[in-house]
Order: sequence, then C-alpha cells, then structure tokens
Amino acid sequence: MHPLIQQLTSRGPVVTDGAWGTELQARGLGLGEFPDLWNLTHPDRVGEVAQAYVAAGSQVILTNTFGANRIRLGEQAAADRAAEINARGVEISLKAANGRARVFASIGPTGKLLMNGDVTEDELRAAFAEQARALAGARAEALVIETMSDLEEAKLAVGAARATGLPVVACMVFDSGKDKDRTMMGTTPEQAAQALTEAGADVIGANCGQGIAGFVAICQRLRAATDRPIWIKPNAGLPTMVDGRAKYTTTPDEFASYVPALVEAGASFIGGCCGTRPDFIAAVRRSLE
Ligand SMILES: [Zn+2]
Repeated sequence: MHPLIQQLTSRGPVVTDGAWGTELQARGLGLGEFPDLWNLTHPDRVGEVAQAYVAAGSQVILTNTFGANRIRLGEQAAADRAAEINARGVEISLKAANGRARVFASIGPTGKLLMNGDVTEDELRAAFAEQARALAGARAEALVIETMSDLEEAKLAVGAARATGLPVVACMVFDSGKDKDRTMMGTTPEQAAQALTEAGADVIGANCGQGIAGFVAICQRLRAATDRPIWIKPNAGLPTMVDGRAKYTTTPDEFASYVPALVEAGASFIGGCCGTRPDFIAAVRRSLE
C-alpha cells in the first residue's frame, strides 16, 4: 500500500469532503458557468469552500479541478489554460488546508465517449496526463479519479495518474440497471474493482449517482473484490429540479445515520458527493467519533 494511504487509514476511517459545485453555486456561480474557471477568476470564493470543509472536519479535501481536462475546457475556449487552472486549484486547497487536511486533487471524466468514437484513447491519455502532471506539479498529495461511468476511460486516467508517482484513488458511479448496482455501461462493482486494481489504483471507490442507502451493498461488493482501501462518496439522495437547479432532500443526520453501516461494509474513506454540504461532513465526523 502507498505509505500515505497506509498512514491515513491506519487509525480508522478517514473523513473526506462534500460537494463543491453546489457550494460554489451558493457563492454565486451561475447555472451555465464552468466551476473550474473560478480558480482563476474567483479564487477567494473557491478557497472558502475548501476552508468550510476543513472547518467541518474533513481530513482530506479535494480541489476545484473536476472538469479541468483540455477536452472539457476546450468547450469553454480554455484548453490552453488547463495546466494553470489545475495548478491554481491545488494551490487554493493547500492554502485553505494549511496543514490541517490532506489535499487530494480531483480528476473527472471528459464527457466524451470512446465507444461512440467521439474521442480516441490517445486523446484521453494525453488529456489526463496533462491534468495529472499539472496537479502533481502544484504538489497535490494524491489524485482522485471520480464520477467515472466508462471503465476504459477510468483505466486510462489511472494510468496517466500513476505516472506522477502519487497515490491514485479511482471511483465509478454505480446507479444503473434494475438494481442500481452497475455503471451506465453495465459494469458491476466486482468488475470495476478488479480492473482498477489491476490498473494500479491504490484506493478503489464509488461516488455520486444515488443516495447513501444504495452505497452500503456496493461498498461490501467492492470490499470483497479487491484488497485496496475503499472510498465512498454518496449523493444527498436523488435530486428534484426546482427552477433549473437540483434540490436534494436528504438531511445531514439521515446521511450520517448510514456511516456505521458503511464502516461495517469496509469503507476506509467516507465523504459526500452532489448535494452534500459542510454540515453533512460535520455529521459524518460526529458519527465516526
Ligand atoms: Zn456527484
């Protein structure tokens, strides 16, 4: 196991952070605005989100770099600023953490589908390599590949992330199929855990997609299929749309009531995805204490 992951997990489950997008919206990010560009234009407000999670008790916080690969940034006419946006994202989180939390940098999907021929493997590899290098160069402590639906894309991202020498967390979204236990492409937790372990990920996980109740069984299945620590970041339930914005109804206490079951199921890292806020993280922290 990577020494940093060993060190973090040796004293029990580690609390990560919650959602960033919804927190940035609460600070003025517009509906059509691309959050990662705020690393350049509104670094103070991005830093406030990071700081709020540290104050809530996150031991690991992420970065506002989820969409900062050149493929997605290209849609914002900002492909050539990819390195800068990623570096600034890490700097903002490191400053907010100020030694009180570890900074793991976020890498999300490109939004293009390999199977449709929208993008080539080489283009994906190059985009993830550029992002991973920029995040590592700015001194991120680990890389988190998250919200992946396509196992092939996730594996390419793991390969690019591993080349930096940093520990790599790889997680996918399991919310499809009749039992809501497969990725959009039909991959099971067992298939994902095996393939991502073989690809060299140090931590394997699941995030986003559905509410926390559905994550207990997925966590058990990931746990049984790999010897790597498990990373779990559920959404705050399923959203309803109100005035064009997603509204989540799970409360922090309801969310945290599942934490003991997740620990029992073998989760080593626990936080939240879409709709979770600093008060959710504080509730998770209390539940673990
Ligand atoms: Zn999410």
